[in-house]
This record gives sequence, structure tokens and C-alpha cells, in this order.
Amino acid sequence: MPAIAMKPPQAMLTPEERRAFRRRLLRWFVGNRRQLPWRADRDPYRVWISEIMLQQTRVAVVRDRYPDFLTRFPGVERLAAAKLPEVLAAWSGLGYYRRARALHVAARQLVKHGGGFPQTAEGLEALPGIGRYTAAAIASIAFDQPCAVVDGNVARVLGRLVRVNKPQAWRVAAELLSPRRPGDFNQAMMELGATVCLPQAPLCAECPVFAWCRTRGVGTSRAQPPRRRKAIAYRLALRNQSVFLVRRENHKSLMPGMWELPQTRPGAAVPVLRLRHAITNTDYQVSVYRAKAVNGVAGRWVKLAEVERLPLTGLTQKILHRANLI
Ligand code: SF4
Repeated sequence: MPAIAMKPPQAMLTPEERRAFRRRLLRWFVGNRRQLPWRADRDPYRVWISEIMLQQTRVAVVRDRYPDFLTRFPGVERLAAAKLPEVLAAWSGLGYYRRARALHVAARQLVKHGGGFPQTAEGLEALPGIGRYTAAAIASIAFDQPCAVVDGNVARVLGRLVRVNKPQAWRVAAELLSPRRPGDFNQAMMELGATVCLPQAPLCAECPVFAWCRTRGVGTSRAQPPRRRKAIAYRLALRNQSVFLVRRENHKSLMPGMWELPQTRPGAAVPVLRLRHAITNTDYQVSVYRAKAVNGVAGRWVKLAEVERLPLTGLTQKILHRANLI
């Protein structure tokens, strides 16, 4: 760890410290940023899609799914022209499908008004699915607007750096923001939180802004929320190269309109497949039982060759993959 004397706690950095901080952080970002597909350019459509995906999905998953989505919907016009089930199918595996619906509605609104994107955070925030954070991220990255962002990573970095809580973090982030390179600065802060200033054990010895940090990792470990375990079971009925699927109801399920295998109770029979599936803080122990028929359940037989055209839940897609059916 660099041998720099610990500074006394202080609310904010001085103007000179802020300038030096920006220079050091941006230089570090240029040399250390991860190569991610959405960083190839600053096209607002591509930035928008990536920011919506990253709202609630891990970077590793978005990295896998983003190129396919862009291949299917290369621009806002194509996305607006698509039918909703096609968009939901392309969103499969990313979870929180409300985002895909909002994306689709927003694309139609944009096309209706000429296809261009609002260039300010206020204008972007008026679109469905875009909140304060996402609007600032898109405005700064795609349009160089001086809008600071605070996501979980940035709030943690600022909390350690200058001992502010989350509500104060927006003001501090705005003061620190590089006026000349706001998009790079925001991405650099998020990258720092994602790769160096880690939640449990920050890598302070590798930190480019160690010199300005008020805590340097002392007293920052955080207990993880407890994880829940839940058993869940599905029936896998196959006939004539088709699988039986049911559609989640619109009004009461978490993923309305998505297709999945029919659920059943975990039973005494031997499952043909067992797997684990994690959603937020729940670990599901999944058992899949073969079934000859599915009586009394409203659903339909879907050809295996066509099943991926439907918006499948991530877990159903995983089961069909594991069973070598798709
Ligand atoms: Fe985080 Fe440590 Fe860097 Fe401070 S010095 S910002 S605690 S990684």
C-alpha cells in the first residue's frame, strides 16, 4: 500500500484535489477499463440499451446477451416495429422483464417523434423505464452532458472516499465530475467501484485515488443479506418433438406473459434433472420430472425448433438447455 499519511476526516476535496483526482482517475480508466461490447462507441441507442440491461443484471450476463439483442434490434426503428413477444424473447435470460416492456414503449414513442433521442437528462427521464441514474448515464456518455451518476458502486466509493451517505452522494458526485469528460468520468467511477473498491474487501493497494481517500478501506466491510433457499419443481412433458409450456398470467405473476414449464410439487419420484438457480437473494433447488401428459393445465405444445421464439423465463430456458432440448 502506498506510504501516504492518513488525512483527517474532511467533508469534501478542495478544488485542487478535485482536479488532481479527476486526472488520476481518468488516466487509470484509460489503461484499466474492461473491454465491454457497449463501450465500442457512444451511439445513444446502444448506450440506452446497455444502461437499461445493466440496471438489474450483472455485467457478465449483459455481456453475453447484449450482442444478440443488438443483432435482432440494431436500431430504434427496428425495436419499435417489433411485436412485444419478440422483444421479450430477445430479453430472455436478463430478468426483470418490465424493463423490456418499457424499452419497447419508449422506442415507439421515440419513433413517433422522429426517432431522435433527447439529449438532456431531463428529456431522457421523461421516457418510460428511465430514472434519474439512467438518464444521467446516457446524457453524459452519449451526449457529454455534465450530469453526475450515482449507482450502488459510486455510492460505495464516495462513502469511503469522503464519508458521505447515499443522499449526499449525488451532490458530491456533481462536484467531483469532470466538466470536460463527464461520460468517461462517470464510467471510471463505476469501474472503480466494480473492480477495485469492492463491497467486501476493497483493493486499496491498487486504488488510483488512494491519496484522496478518507477511509482507505478501514471499517468498510458490509454484511451480506442472508440468502434464502427454496425448493421448486417442474414437469417436462414431451411428444412429437414438442414440449408443453404454460404462460404466466398477466395480473399476478412476476414475469407476466412469459412462458415456462408447468410447475408441480417436489415429490417422491426421481427427477430427470436437478439444478440450482439464483434470483436476487434466493437460491432455488430445482427438480424436473418427466411427465407423459399434463392434464387440467392450460397451456400449449410448442415445437422444440420454435420454442426460442417465445419469451421464455430464464429458468425454463436453462432447463431446456440442460436437457439438451434447445
Ligand atoms: Fe475504495 Fe480503498 Fe480506493 Fe478508498 S482507497 S476509494 S476504500 S479502494
